[in-house]
Amino acid sequence: MGNVVIRKVRAILTAPNNINLIVVKVETNEPELYGLGCATFAYRENAVKLMVEEYFSPLLEGRNVADIEDIWHLMNNNSYWRNGPVTNNAISGVDMALWDIKGKMANMPVYDLLGGKSRQGAAVYRHADGASLEQVLENVQKFIEQKVRHVRVQWGGYGGRADTLNKPDGASDGVYYDPDQYVNNTLKLFDYVRGKIGFDTELLHDCHERITGIEAVRLAKQLEPYRLFFLEDVLSPEQGEWLRMLRSQSCTPIALGELYNNPKEWDYLIANRLIDFIRVHVSQIGGITPARKLAVFCEQFGVRTAWHGPGDVSPVGHMANVHLDLVSHNFGIQEWAGVNETLHEVFPGSPQLKDGYVYANDRPGLGIDINEELAEKYPCKTQVTTWTQTRLPDGSINTP
Ligand code: MG
Repeated sequence: MGNVVIRKVRAILTAPNNINLIVVKVETNEPELYGLGCATFAYRENAVKLMVEEYFSPLLEGRNVADIEDIWHLMNNNSYWRNGPVTNNAISGVDMALWDIKGKMANMPVYDLLGGKSRQGAAVYRHADGASLEQVLENVQKFIEQKVRHVRVQWGGYGGRADTLNKPDGASDGVYYDPDQYVNNTLKLFDYVRGKIGFDTELLHDCHERITGIEAVRLAKQLEPYRLFFLEDVLSPEQGEWLRMLRSQSCTPIALGELYNNPKEWDYLIANRLIDFIRVHVSQIGGITPARKLAVFCEQFGVRTAWHGPGDVSPVGHMANVHLDLVSHNFGIQEWAGVNETLHEVFPGSPQLKDGYVYANDRPGLGIDINEELAEKYPCKTQVTTWTQTRLPDGSINTP
C-alpha cells in the first residue's frame, strides 16, 4: 500500500438505546480502508459533530494516516485553548479511527500494535441498584449467578430518596437528594448486603461526587469493615486535594476520574498515590493515544486502570477500552454497562461478555464496524439534559 492519506472525516450520530452516541469515521484515499472512533459526548452531540466536520476534516485532509502521534498533537494544539470536553471527544474519534486503520493496514488487532495481550479477557464490574435493600440484593445475586465477581451496589441510584425531603417554597425543579440521608443509607446497604453474601464477591460503590470533602473522609473510614474493591468518585475533580486527608485516615481503595479532561487533574493524584484506580472516560481525554500513556504512567506508581464504561459510551468506545484492558499490565477492572442486541446489530463485532469477562475479537484494527443504514433508523434527540440538574434539600444546585 502506497502513501495512505485522510480523505474525509465525518461524525455519525445514532441512538439505538435512546442514548446519543457519536462515532467518527475517518475515510482514506483507499476506497475500502476506513477507521472508526468513539467521540460520544451524549449531551452535546451536535457540538462534537460540528468540531469534527467543520474543523478537523479540513485540518486533516491529505495527511498521512500513519502519523497518529503527530496528528493527535496537531488536533490538540490547533484551537490554541486545549482540554475541553467537546474538543477532546472530537480528537478521540479521530485518534481511535487512526489506530483502527493502522491495525487494518498491519493486519493486526490494536492490542497487538500496543504490545500484545497481558490477559485473554477483561474482568468487569456490573451495576446493581434498587428502591429497597431487598431489591438491590436480588440484583446482586443475579450477577453472582452470571459468574460476575465484581458488583457496584447503589440504594436508590446515586443519592437516595428525594420524595421525603422538606424543600423551601419556590424551590426549582431538579433531581433532589440529601447527602446525609444518602451516606447513612449507603452504610446500611453495605451492612445488609455483606451480611447476606459474605466476602466472596467484590463490592464497589459510586458516590458520584455528591458529598463534601470531610463527608468523603468519614464515609471512606466507615466503609472499611465492608472491604470495598473501590469507592468511586468520592470527590469532584475540583476537590481532589481532600484525598491527602482521606488517605491518611482510611484504607478504602479509591477510584477517581470519569469527569477528568485535563492531565493536570490526575497527574498529582497518581504521582502521590492518592488514588488506587484511574477511571477516566477515554474519549473525554482524547482517545487511545493519551489513555495508553496514562496507563503506563499509572503503572510506575502502582495505580491500576478502571476505564469508565457506562451506557453513554458507544460500542466502538467500549471496544477501545477492552483493547487497552487486554494490553495494560496494570489493568484493574472494566465497568461494563452492557451491549444489547440492538447495539450489536448496529455495531457488528461489538465486545462480548461471558462469565464476568469481556472479550475483543482477533480481527485487524479495533475489530468493530457500524451499519450506517441501520444507525440512521435511530436518530439522536437534542433536548435539555435534566438528570444533571441535581439539587440539595434547600434547592441549591450541586454537581450531578
Ligand atoms: Mg461513576
